[in-house]
Amino acid sequence: MIKVEKLNKSFGDLHVLKDVDLTVFESDVVCLIGASGSGKSTLLRCLNFLEKKDNGTIMIENEEVDLSRNDVNKIRERVGMVFQHFNLFPHKTVLENVIEAPIHVKKMGKREATEEGKALLEKVGLADKANVYPSKLSGGQKQRVAIARALAMKPDIMLFDEPTSALDPELVGEVLTTMKELAKEGMTMVVVTHEMGFAREVADWVVYMNDGKIIEVGHPDELFDQPKEARTKEFLQTTM
Ligand code: ATP
Ligand code: MG
Repeated sequence: MIKVEKLNKSFGDLHVLKDVDLTVFESDVVCLIGASGSGKSTLLRCLNFLEKKDNGTIMIENEEVDLSRNDVNKIRERVGMVFQHFNLFPHKTVLENVIEAPIHVKKMGKREATEEGKALLEKVGLADKANVYPSKLSGGQKQRVAIARALAMKPDIMLFDEPTSALDPELVGEVLTTMKELAKEGMTMVVVTHEMGFAREVADWVVYMNDGKIIEVGHPDELFDQPKEARTKEFLQTTM
C-alpha cells in the first residue's frame, strides 16, 4: 500500500505537485492520467524516491518513509519502476539484465537469480531471448524485459511511467497484455498512461491530474462516462 499526504514538490519557482493526496491499496491498479506537464512523472518519481519531495508524507506498507532515516535503496527494492524508455544495459544479455540487481543489490546467489530470472522471462514470453542482447529486440520485447527486470526484485508495488508511449502501435498490445496479467495476479500498480482502453479495462481507480493537483478520482466507468469535474470533462473531450 502507498499513502501520500499533502505531497509538495517544486523545481525552483515551479510548483509541480500541490498538496497531492493519494492512497493505493494492496492489489489496486491505479491509472494516472492528465495533460503533459501536469506532474504525473514527478509524482511517480517521488514515490520511488528518484525525486526528493519538499514536504508531505509518503507511507509505504504502513511505514512512513523518511529519507534521513531510511535507506533509499531498501525502499526502492520494494517499489519497482518501468519507464517509457527501457534503460536496459546494452552490453548485457537479456538474462544478465534481469539478474543484475538481484545479484548486486540483493546479494542473491547467481544460480538462484538465474533460475528466477528465467522464470520471469518465461512469464513475459521471452524465454527464448534470454541470451540475446537488447539491440536484437523489438521495442515491445525490450519493455517486457524491463518489466521482468523490475519484477526480479520482488517489489510490493510497480510503477509504470507511460510504458507504451515509445512503442510502435503494433507493439503496444503485447506490453499491455503483460501488465494485465500482472494486475490479475494482484500486483499493486500505479500506471501513468494515455491508453484509455487499458485504464477502462484494468484500473480499479483512475486519477485525473491537472496542474500539479489531483482533480478527480473515480472508478473507470464513473470517471470516463460521468466525470464530476469540468476540468476532467474537458480533458477527456480532448483526448478521447
Ligand atoms: P508528460 O505527460 O509530458 O510526461 P508529466 O505530467 O509527466 O508530463 P512532469 O514530467 O511531472 O509532467 O513535469 C511537471 C512539470 O515539472 C513540467 O513543467 C516540467 O517541465 C517540470 N519538471 C519536471 N522535472 C523537472 C526537473 N528535473 N527540473 C525542472 N523542472 C522539471
Ligand atoms: Mg511524464
